[in-house]
Amino acid sequence: MFFHCRNLLCAAFYMTLLLASSSYASEFMLTFDDGPLPGATDKVLQALSGIRGDDGQPVRAGFFLLGDVPESALARRKYFSPYEMWGEKGSIAAHPELVNKILTGGHLVGNHSTRHAWFRWPWLSDKEAVLEEIAAWEKLAANLLDPAVPRLFRPPYLVDTPAVRQAAAEAGYQVVMGVSSGDAAPLATPYAIVERVSGILNKWDSAVPCVLVFHDTRPATQQSLAEIVGALQARGFRLVHFDPARLAVRSNGDAHLDRLPGS
Ligand SMILES: [Zn+2]
Repeated sequence: MFFHCRNLLCAAFYMTLLLASSSYASEFMLTFDDGPLPGATDKVLQALSGIRGDDGQPVRAGFFLLGDVPESALARRKYFSPYEMWGEKGSIAAHPELVNKILTGGHLVGNHSTRHAWFRWPWLSDKEAVLEEIAAWEKLAANLLDPAVPRLFRPPYLVDTPAVRQAAAEAGYQVVMGVSSGDAAPLATPYAIVERVSGILNKWDSAVPCVLVFHDTRPATQQSLAEIVGALQARGFRLVHFDPARLAVRSNGDAHLDRLPGS
């Protein structure tokens, strides 16, 4: 591609176009929600150990964990998403050893709330309730995490409300949203996930990498993560390490949020 530019402004404009249509457009990061769950999280970690980022190093992913779900929380809940009947969710309280295993693997851990309450429950519109969820999670994870690492929060179902943003800011958390891989859909297949994600990455026009949301708890992810990522890399999309610092600037990436059930 060649452009005739008579001034710096024009040159900068075309450079922006080139960058938007090449390197940035095809980068993606991996994140996993709803663990830690024995068996499920182990399988994902095993798969990740064989996946390399675009720098040739074992890829670093983000795990957004739940504090105490479902045993002690189900009794207190008033509303349920039908999708939450599909299977178990993780619990730091019940499986702290898995948090250590995630960290030992070189990955980052984030707060995905304590109870993963259904998004139509009004707590996500109540700053104090969000703060309580964040704080209860911190209490459970306090002895497991390095206090110096960045604090990351992803609300259940990727619900992005002013209350979520305000609570996260007050608690010193960076909100990390993402784009659903589609693995939470009923009977999701690796092929369907690859096709869906390819469509998203082909149109990705944000200045930051696309953060894909998978789930430790979903069968397609447990069984076929390496194949899914390999297929995406074979199509030219670049897997980069999960790095919250690269996401700090809120971009139009948020406009791509997909609120498939189960996030
Ligand atoms: Zn979730």
